Amino acid sequence: MPIKSNRLTAEEYEQNFSDIHPPFDSRESALVEANRCLFCYDAPCTKSCPTEINIPKFIKQISTDNVKGSAHTIFVSNIMGAGCSRVCPVEKLCEGSCVYNLMEETPIPIARLQRYATEQALEKKWKLFDRKPSTGKKVAVVGAGPAGLSCAHVLSREGVDVTIYEKESKGGGLMTYGIAAYKVTPEFCEEEVKYITSVGGINLKYDHELGKDITLTQLQKDYDAVYLGFGVGLARQLNIPGEELEGVVDAIRFIYDLRSGSYDNIPVGDKVVVIGMGMTAIDAATQAKRLGAKEVTLAYRRTQEEMPCTETELNIAKLDGCRIIWLAAPAMIKGENGKVTQLVCNLMQLGEPDASGRRSPVESGEQFILEADMVIKAAGQIPFEDLVSSSQLQHANGKITAQKNGSTNIRGVFAGGDCVNGGKEVVDAVQAGKIGAKAILEYMNVL
Ligand code: SF4
Repeated sequence: MPIKSNRLTAEEYEQNFSDIHPPFDSRESALVEANRCLFCYDAPCTKSCPTEINIPKFIKQISTDNVKGSAHTIFVSNIMGAGCSRVCPVEKLCEGSCVYNLMEETPIPIARLQRYATEQALEKKWKLFDRKPSTGKKVAVVGAGPAGLSCAHVLSREGVDVTIYEKESKGGGLMTYGIAAYKVTPEFCEEEVKYITSVGGINLKYDHELGKDITLTQLQKDYDAVYLGFGVGLARQLNIPGEELEGVVDAIRFIYDLRSGSYDNIPVGDKVVVIGMGMTAIDAATQAKRLGAKEVTLAYRRTQEEMPCTETELNIAKLDGCRIIWLAAPAMIKGENGKVTQLVCNLMQLGEPDASGRRSPVESGEQFILEADMVIKAAGQIPFEDLVSSSQLQHANGKITAQKNGSTNIRGVFAGGDCVNGGKEVVDAVQAGKIGAKAILEYMNVL
């Protein structure tokens, strides 16, 4: 059972990694959908958007052919509105709240309409925001992901000079490095970062890692305020025997490699087991299948009722031919000659609800074996605990403790996004960046 790369032809790779939610094929089809919107008062779609985009307004603007105005309406609330239109779990957010669901009719395709407006803005390089005159203030942002970029954009518009320090060689964070390539391509992410920073006043310093190339103390000295938006790290360890075997990989690393290189260079097994059932697990499983793995199994310790991914994501995995095993918790990884051959799972059953309200899995006493030559770990990500612990920042197991407005226990240091919440959606990080920017402006007496 070999792990190998170059399993498919160039055409097959292209087909497997093409856009999963194609855009409207014409202006007319976008207008037809925009005209279905009821422009609800107190729109539930807007209420369920973490960035509170005025959805009826941007749809109305599309229906009147004011696409530029529509893009502005989206970006003023969510500067990553183009990326979010491709990666947001809309079925549990805006589209899931659309009143058409109550009438048992197809909801308005809000994400596709958002994509229709925002991608034109990116393609045509529409300049939709001006910077206010310089305030003379300067802020350091750590991390060029959704939280950092969103924070930087708001600050820059208010006349603040921003320097973003990013440890990778590209911006976009999770969007660029951690999401399946058929949702957003690395090229698209690069365009989006360019578009956001084209507002001016944002200096991006790549290959600058906090704790290595820069220190928080130095940033505090050099800037009027600091915003930390450096996200979370690699996958949580399973802490089971055999985790060190060749063929056991981290889902984030797997997706990262896939997005940083070319598809034919990425090794994948014949029989792949992915542990977890969040968005990253689904992305890793579907991408393994699309790289040519013969069998991909998702193993999750709870049931469908408790799974973190959405029904839509689960269906994507099923349509790709991935097998799902519920109530399966990894117990041991077995191998031969240092390489994975089997995953031993405990068969679980559901016990009492935990703090999250979901019923906790408990061992049933039975085990079963899955044949595998590759095991992908996607059971959550861990915060950068060493980095956070080495500072004076208050934290809980590496998650920075921040107030609602993003302020931390250190005066002038703010934080938001995954490094605070432990890992949520891209759109939540964008909102956190906006909130943090507002608090920083107030702190600097700019507002
Ligand atoms: Fe339009 Fe649906 Fe939002 Fe109502 S809930 S404004 S119909 S998208």
